[in-house]
Amino acid sequence: MKILFIGAHQDDNEFDCGGLAMTYIDRGHEVRFLSVCNGCGGHHILSPEETTATRAKESAAVAEYLGITYDVWDFDDCSIVPDLETRRRLIRYIRAFAPDLIVSHRPNDYHADHRTVGQLVQDASYMLIVPHECPDVPAMRKTPVILYSGDYFTNPPFRPDFVFDITPYIERKMHIASLNVSQVFEWLPYTNGETVPEGEAERLAFLRGTEIDENSTDKEVLAAYPTRYVKFAKPAAKCRKELIKKYGRRGRKIRFAEMYQLCEYSGAITDEVRKELLV
Ligand SMILES: [Zn+2]
Repeated sequence: MKILFIGAHQDDNEFDCGGLAMTYIDRGHEVRFLSVCNGCGGHHILSPEETTATRAKESAAVAEYLGITYDVWDFDDCSIVPDLETRRRLIRYIRAFAPDLIVSHRPNDYHADHRTVGQLVQDASYMLIVPHECPDVPAMRKTPVILYSGDYFTNPPFRPDFVFDITPYIERKMHIASLNVSQVFEWLPYTNGETVPEGEAERLAFLRGTEIDENSTDKEVLAAYPTRYVKFAKPAAKCRKELIKKYGRRGRKIRFAEMYQLCEYSGAITDEVRKELLV
């Protein structure tokens, strides 16, 4: 099986999908990360060129740790639009890899780059099987399964169709997040007005944040916990009902989860595909 995670930026796949990616990697499937933007916009001290180079090294470290291919395209942050040229670039890229599953943003995300990437994936989805579109790369015979990674936007609200207990992967997920040093210890704290402590252990504790009451509802979590912590613990609170439905009583106690919504333009998700793709 081949699984393609398409994020707008170099921490999106790590934060939103790291646990699911690892479940596939551990089961011997081929996982690939794509960041459509080069990361140039996300720093308050480094120049765009320096930031791009730094991000590239961080993504290479994530790729090495996970043992995957991690492609980074050359679009500057905040400058990507869903035009025909970019759509065709994406169609060719997806066809060449021929994934069974694609995971990307919903097109109503807060960040214009996320929205654009979600739109591009939607726009490409049907064209993947159309032979006269981008005829230089053979068309796929069927549309891959397409999922949206979890978010909290409300117009329309995210629908957690598939939920995963990622507790066994949370330490590794936090590790790949931490490899994005210029993001999680520099740029994001700067934007959030946070001070990052000195020392490796202290920095990881900062990234991890406060522990959560597993019975919290999403509303309570939002009120009680800082942003950085919510990044890791919020999905389980948000999809508690679905976790209980899938895992039974154990679902009440799951602290770390990821959630995904089926894209309306996804390929067919038969029982067989569901069994193989969705643990
Ligand atoms: Zn992003």
